[in-house]
Amino acid sequence: MLLFSLCFVCLNLSSRVSFTLTWSVGLKNFESKLRKGQPQIILMKEGTDSSQGKPQLISNINACAAVVDAIRTTLGPRGMDKLIVDTKGQATISNDGATIMKQLDIVHPAAKILVDIAKSQDAEVGDGTTTVVLLAGQFLEQCKTLIEEGVHPHAIIRAFRRATNLAIEKINEIAVKINKKDPVELRSILAKCAGTSLNSKLIHQQKDFFAQMVVDAVMSLDSLLPLDMIGIKKVPGGALEESRLVDGVAFKKTFSYAGFEMQPKHYENPKIALLNIELELKAERDNAEIRVNNVEEYQKIVDTEWNILYQKLDLIHKSGAKVVLSKLPIGDVATQYFADRDMFCAGRVVDEDMKRTIKACGGAIMSTAHDLDDSVLGTCQLFEEKQIGAERFNFFNGCPQAKTCTIVLRGGAEQFLEETERSLHDAIMIVRRALKHDAVVAGGGAVELEVSKHLREYSRSIASKEQLFLAAYAKALEVIPRQLCDNAGFDSTTILNKLRARHAEGGKWYGVDVMNEDIADNFIACVWEPALVKINALTAASEAACLILSVDETIKSPRSSTDGPPMPGRGRGRPM
Ligand code: ADP
Ligand code: MG
Repeated sequence: MLLFSLCFVCLNLSSRVSFTLTWSVGLKNFESKLRKGQPQIILMKEGTDSSQGKPQLISNINACAAVVDAIRTTLGPRGMDKLIVDTKGQATISNDGATIMKQLDIVHPAAKILVDIAKSQDAEVGDGTTTVVLLAGQFLEQCKTLIEEGVHPHAIIRAFRRATNLAIEKINEIAVKINKKDPVELRSILAKCAGTSLNSKLIHQQKDFFAQMVVDAVMSLDSLLPLDMIGIKKVPGGALEESRLVDGVAFKKTFSYAGFEMQPKHYENPKIALLNIELELKAERDNAEIRVNNVEEYQKIVDTEWNILYQKLDLIHKSGAKVVLSKLPIGDVATQYFADRDMFCAGRVVDEDMKRTIKACGGAIMSTAHDLDDSVLGTCQLFEEKQIGAERFNFFNGCPQAKTCTIVLRGGAEQFLEETERSLHDAIMIVRRALKHDAVVAGGGAVELEVSKHLREYSRSIASKEQLFLAAYAKALEVIPRQLCDNAGFDSTTILNKLRARHAEGGKWYGVDVMNEDIADNFIACVWEPALVKINALTAASEAACLILSVDETIKSPRSSTDGPPMPGRGRGRPM
């Protein structure tokens, strides 16, 4: 009896289910009939992922914090370096924020913004790339608690924009102007700025040596200070101190043929021909078919080829050029021809070197040997070839047109040389900036603390809740001295307390003394940075923080089907 009633219940249940199903299907059909003729609105592709609201904001902030943690330890003179191995197995050792961020291959959309600000800082001022990322991360960190408590992001954004303007005003107010009139003083100030930038690099032991070299290099440029007029050549081997600055253009001896050794390697005031012509017997077998019936005919073809080449060589010789550079190969016949006529030649010159030579020595690149006259020939005071380590270099000294120089770097491992080049780039950019915008501030966290103090004082004069946000901004600025202490292994709380007290007493240039685990007047200690580095870092960091705060939804479209791996099928050697 029991069994029977159970069966009945089951039957009853299933019939009701089937009824509901048929009913709902019927309803859909009815609805679609109703909509017939109306366009269907499809907003997003199926599979689109969207997350929104406060949790999204917090998750973005957390992603940025993870990125900041990755480069936190590289800040300052006691910062560590990172060894990054890319997908191809290429290893890079670097201390430079922008380089590390570029290599990290970050995919998180919000965290990518931090990569962008590091890049823009690198392009704009060249240094302070770690600083900018740290600041942005800390701004967001400070906002996190506020957002969690329910503050609207726009209230914070407004306050942060105001705080940034106040901070920039303060930096401009306290920055010390460089006296450009006195060349000795100018040099020493620039060397100090370069030195501060090099402090945190792998080559900090040779900081003074390279700071002088960088200042010499930048001072040798013309008033526009074009960066591409400073060439950096790396020659593995030797000691770092054997690196040197060449006044003029220098590049590695190009590939050459037998007659090359007979050519003179020293000229004073030579005329320089810059060509884009192949001075070689053309091997026409690749792109021509010639049918001849007898040897005489063939001989004619060979003779013509030689004649064409000799015509070109004669024209070059007649132009009076003593040094011939070509982007294209210069063959053995031409090399010997020039050797016989007391001329020097170099083929396959790299485009970048060719451009720098043109800018420095004057002249123009010619694609024909005709019309080679003085207007298209360059010149320099001294041309010579010299041995550096295991390499031979061509030097063009005393270039009349644009002022240019080349830094020849010596050193051990390839990675070491590359990091040295990046470090010098930072220092060169800093010196250029200091020359263009002649104001400097003290580093080592001094300027950050002074601005922080100013903002705190200012915030107390505000009655609204903006006071809180300005204080959060001011607190975030302390991340720089704090991190400098942490990286050097100091007790950051003690040092920061000392610094705050000192700044309250009016010691505006007091910052971290990384040598003695103490605080010091960093202006006297010559830790100087161009004010522009700090201004740019603050602007970029606060812009990035505001941008990330204003995003409360991420919509990710599914990968389009064309992005996927290619479908297996016929063709291209695949099996049928
Ligand atoms: P970034 O990529 O931001 O330039 P760095 O690793 O170069 O990062 O560190 C720069 C920071 O180190 C700046 O805040 C600068 O003031 C500080 N710094 C440099 N030299 C010294 C020093 N001798 N004493 C204290 N701080 C220094
Ligand atoms: Mg730096």
